[in-house]
Amino acid sequence: MIDRLSQISPHPNPLSQAGEGTKPIAILGGTFDPVHLGHLRVAWEAAEALDAQVRLMPANVPPHRPVPVASAQQRVRMLEAALARQDRLTVDTRELRRDGASYTFDTLRELRSEVASSQPLILLLGADAFAGLPAWHCWIELFELAHIVVLTRPGHAPSWSAELAAEIAPRRARAVAQLRRSPAGMVFELPVTPLEISASAVRTLLAAGREPRWLLPEALLADASLLSVYRSALIP
Ligand code: ATP
Repeated sequence: MIDRLSQISPHPNPLSQAGEGTKPIAILGGTFDPVHLGHLRVAWEAAEALDAQVRLMPANVPPHRPVPVASAQQRVRMLEAALARQDRLTVDTRELRRDGASYTFDTLRELRSEVASSQPLILLLGADAFAGLPAWHCWIELFELAHIVVLTRPGHAPSWSAELAAEIAPRRARAVAQLRRSPAGMVFELPVTPLEISASAVRTLLAAGREPRWLLPEALLADASLLSVYRSALIP
């Protein structure tokens, strides 16, 4: 394990456990190296539009991808700071507590085993990631575990491969309310406002000694120790 991950509690924000009721639980996976306002804005919009609890789920990166600049524990500290003082978005560290990268199928199966069988689970995916879904491990079985909400740009109608389009055609939800009536199996396209922010651009600014104000949540800028790893990093 990377560093002291056993100290990371599964649900660091205790409020995350309160009042989830039958609200859908949605997950947004990513590297969050670091978490920025683009992530938070899209997670918040999804939480409101779907009336869901959204869990930001930091991932271990597969061996063929560049290693994150911040350690798993540093990325979790930044997420916790960013998500303080609200209880709608939470952090879920389950993938970091496993060795290596996780299949989404395994993560959802574990989550499904922890909640009521009627509890709606939602996997939030950007349109690009969704387009690549047929290459994922057990991709069709994912629909037995969760709904998929595809985050699209307003005004864009993405097109999918024939294989993907055929699988999702009978699964299309026309309204958000349909996602609450079943635990899994539907696909819904949700237009969200994209902010032109990327973690790599934020890392470049920090390494150059600049201050990425208005790109990051205030809490990350308020505690110099949270971002210091990027200030000393050599960014290619
Ligand atoms: P990098 O620049 O290092 O590639 P990133 O900013 O794209 O990182 P990730 O942690 O890989 O961040 O992304 C997590 C999730 O958030 C992904 O689903 C990604 O599509 C989404 N996302 C990232 N940036 C934005 C943004 N500006 N607006 C909306 N969604 C975003």
